Amino acid sequence: MSWNGPSPRGGDQSVERESLLATLIVLLSGLALQLFAMWPGRIRHQSAARQLERLHWLALWWPTAPALTVAAWLCGWALSQPDPVPAHVGVLVFIAAGPFAILGGRAVVRAVLSLCHSPLAYGIVTVGLLRPRIVVAPEFEKALDEQAMQAALAHERTHVRHRDPLRIWLAQFVTDLQWPWGSARCRFTGWLAALEHARDDEARAAGVEGADLAAAVLGSLRFQLRIATAAATLIGQPEALPARIARLLRPLPESPPHEEPPYLVVAGGLAVVWLVAIVLGVFCGKRLIDSLLALSS
Ligand SMILES: [Zn+2]
Repeated sequence: MSWNGPSPRGGDQSVERESLLATLIVLLSGLALQLFAMWPGRIRHQSAARQLERLHWLALWWPTAPALTVAAWLCGWALSQPDPVPAHVGVLVFIAAGPFAILGGRAVVRAVLSLCHSPLAYGIVTVGLLRPRIVVAPEFEKALDEQAMQAALAHERTHVRHRDPLRIWLAQFVTDLQWPWGSARCRFTGWLAALEHARDDEARAAGVEGADLAAAVLGSLRFQLRIATAAATLIGQPEALPARIARLLRPLPESPPHEEPPYLVVAGGLAVVWLVAIVLGVFCGKRLIDSLLALSS
């Protein structure tokens, strides 16, 4: 960041365009994310486990859409501005962006730390963001009978197939960006529970007995530590275990026809919204940003 001041107005300074854009994105998109993070995001939808998991996944990301719309609008504004920006910029803008920058830094640190846990802390786990693989602790293998071990492996193979370690890592990151809202945490744990149900059902549909999988889940409990990790474990969220074990011991529910959420419609709609936001930023951004900068001067 380069400061081109002091200006004739004493404490005010002008700033190069990209630095100001980055600061405004942190401030205004961070504010939008925090506001929309309050959304409870409860999903009461009677549908197949896999479909429910996808709905929870979309709910997890929904609060980022307004924040990205604000960022698109700011990019539009920046396109219409010379470099450096001629407006005077008070230090208050940078101070106000500070807490959101700290939240982002905290999320990044937690994302990095979550990659540092040894997979052997778990009985069986799927790790690897880009190349997922199953890791089994030798003690765990000895403690389980053959059917339970095969059930555990079948469950973890579904995590590999869907690249769940990467999805869990991204979900944890976007939840951390919405800290400290409990609603964001609830959306995350709700999605994790739905994820495990979906993977259980997929393994059972491939021939695994629910009772064997339940035995494997209970057998892995003593191996697992309650730590945040970018890995797909067998037991998932400990809080969700009683309901999950009970579910595994019931017959596999008849699967209604699977319907994917309308991803293309959602993506197309968002692309249009962001395009409109950029255009609005180009033509109408200056007055609003000048007003904001005047407040901070
Ligand atoms: Zn699992």
